[in-house]
Amino acid sequence: TNKIFKSINPFTQSVIAEHEVLTNGQLDQKLQLSELAFRNWRRTTFQERADKMKRLADILRVNKEELGLLITNEMGKILPEAIAEVEKSAGNCDYYAENAEKMLKDQYYETTFKSMSVYDPMGSVFAIMPWNYPFWQVLRYAAPAIMAGNVSLLKHAPNVVGCAKAIENMFLEAGFPEGVFQQINIDILQVENVIASDIVSGITLTGSEMAGSSVAALAGKYIKKSVLELGGSDAFIVLNDADLEKATTVATKSRMLNAGQACICAKRFIITEKVADEFVSLFANKIVALQQGNPLQFGIDMGPLARIDLAEKLSYQLENSLKQGARMVVGGEYDQCNFQPTLIDFVDVNNIAFQDETFGPLATIIRAKDENDAIAIANNHRYGLASGIWTEDRERGYALARRIEAGNVFVNSLVRSDSRIPFGGIKKSGYGRELSEIGIKEFMNMKSVVIE
Ligand code: NDP
Repeated sequence: TNKIFKSINPFTQSVIAEHEVLTNGQLDQKLQLSELAFRNWRRTTFQERADKMKRLADILRVNKEELGLLITNEMGKILPEAIAEVEKSAGNCDYYAENAEKMLKDQYYETTFKSMSVYDPMGSVFAIMPWNYPFWQVLRYAAPAIMAGNVSLLKHAPNVVGCAKAIENMFLEAGFPEGVFQQINIDILQVENVIASDIVSGITLTGSEMAGSSVAALAGKYIKKSVLELGGSDAFIVLNDADLEKATTVATKSRMLNAGQACICAKRFIITEKVADEFVSLFANKIVALQQGNPLQFGIDMGPLARIDLAEKLSYQLENSLKQGARMVVGGEYDQCNFQPTLIDFVDVNNIAFQDETFGPLATIIRAKDENDAIAIANNHRYGLASGIWTEDRERGYALARRIEAGNVFVNSLVRSDSRIPFGGIKKSGYGRELSEIGIKEFMNMKSVVIE
């Protein structure tokens, strides 16, 4: 008999659906189908692929309300954010439908002979994805991979299997042949079977550092390329000359969006001493104003966390950070999955809320002496995903951005991913890049051809 994954609505705690886990025999069939699909798919033209990818974008847009509802019910984000996620995913499909061919054109080198790079698809991209952006994380890798002529297998997080199934159905409805995109319900022990399979040419994982480390070890064992997008503890640096009104508005959004459950949420607010009190007071007012409640209800800014264990972990981190000397400014309470938006001050580099990734609505203030101190504090971390810098002097912003150890830096702006810009991290935040022409080439055979 098959094992079961339960999908639980985090706001109501009711079981929405139960999904059967594949047996090893069923998994083998999916792997064989992936291989069959690749033989034909790799030979299709960009135009054929683009037509279907555009159709997928349309299907996503037409059904955005219903799909948004599915996201909200499975993982708890507020409905407007869920619908926006579906729209962003549709935009990504359009973008790669329109640009993949251009990105993958032959590239010439100046030599005596005709020398070039050509980009060949390599097989099936195996994706292991998390629940926090159940549509965006999937379409972010899948649209470029499939436009490039690869096929894909998705192992989604167990609490968003409904989203995974909906995405697979939409690929079929858009006209992609069976097997080009398959979702596979497997447990962790079966991950090795997939990675070992010859059809799998690369692995992309978004999730925790621990998941990344064990999957990358398996990828190494079978000599497969991997791209990892792991945790973050992004710094949000505010200098004396920053526009504090705008900075605190974006700070609130950047930390509290998706109930704080994003790898690129700002997590460490590093503020120079002179403006720290004013920043904290403006920030606290904006946090207190957030309406928390039923994610389906109009006017609600924040829903529950996706699972009770996530709320418990955050509460543990908060309690310990206070024991270690941090001071509560606002919030701090939680009930089941509902965690109050919380702000703590006087956090230092030894504090658990500084060192760990806090995956929920907990903002921490770290006071810095000056801009050099702020950069040093920002870089004093195991993670290096993204960072924000706030200063009215844009040249200074650029100079400081160059000194930040992270894969992305945004000056006076909300950190976000964009189909056109490479996205990824360094240090324990992972390696490789998604999106843009850099991302689409991660799972290609960049073949050098020399013709004498
Ligand atoms: P996980 O990293 O455990 O889950 C993400 C995905 O990875 C899921 O599909 C999960 O499947 C899979 N996974 C986990 N362990 C392995 C493994 N050993 N081999 C193969 N696949 C694996 O995240 P959680 O949901 O448990 O969240 C815990 C923490 O992870 C968060 O508090 C946050 O810090 C971080 N996180 C970061 C994300 C990001 O965007 N960077 C996204 C999600 C979480 P399964 O559930 O079946 O184990």
